[in-house]
Amino acid sequence: MSARHFLPSFLIAVLAAGMLAFSSPMPARAADRTIYLTFDDGPLPGTENVHAVLRQENVPAALFMVGLHVETQPHGRKLLDDARSIPLATLGNHSYSHANSRYRNFYSDTAGVVADMQRANQVLGFKPPVPARLPGRNVFRLTRIFADDLSIDVREWQREWLDYELVGEAGFRLYGWDHEWVHSDDGKPVQSVDRLVSEIDHLFRYNRFMRPDKMILLMHDQMFQDKFDGKQNLETFIRQLKARGYRFGDPARYEE
Ligand SMILES: [Zn+2]
Repeated sequence: MSARHFLPSFLIAVLAAGMLAFSSPMPARAADRTIYLTFDDGPLPGTENVHAVLRQENVPAALFMVGLHVETQPHGRKLLDDARSIPLATLGNHSYSHANSRYRNFYSDTAGVVADMQRANQVLGFKPPVPARLPGRNVFRLTRIFADDLSIDVREWQREWLDYELVGEAGFRLYGWDHEWVHSDDGKPVQSVDRLVSEIDHLFRYNRFMRPDKMILLMHDQMFQDKFDGKQNLETFIRQLKARGYRFGDPARYEE
């Protein structure tokens, strides 16, 4: 082969390789990027769709459930039992009362917070150590990861930090989150699936998560009601992440 012919074909190969690299949806490290799906506040309308999609897509997830909802929601007990039979689901405690959504008031009573979490253990049938998420607070108390909610002001934090400590000492492994699929007051998702996926791509480029390359995503069961096309949205979301090469991590093994 003459030099005249060799050079262009060599250049074409280099260019083609470059184009492939740029056109693939994620860079080569995509396989290391892990998403932990977490669903809060069940059982609620929408919970059944969450369970169906988790089974169908066979991905791990944590379900942080509210004791009061087990007792008061239609089919609450049945949905709890159903959650136990989802192969890759980790069940967790998300309090008994959900603070009645009055968080400052709830966290002003340390003994009351611990008692509320323990009451949920009774309803949910959990024994320590229990994966858990505090209502309304992005707090981590795991084996090696400790973090407090940076969105509350310092004076409030001074009132609340002992609550987090004592809940942790009572045998709860507290999981916070890195990013949220947000919903409006009526439960309707704020971001479209496409928007959320592009946010996730973007955030992994910055990689400022509690643990590098690992994102805990917060969602709420009520977002997945039929009236919001919940089943379709969640299925599309998970399939898009799979297609982009993300891994789905087991929240129970988050620290490994
Ligand atoms: Zn909640």
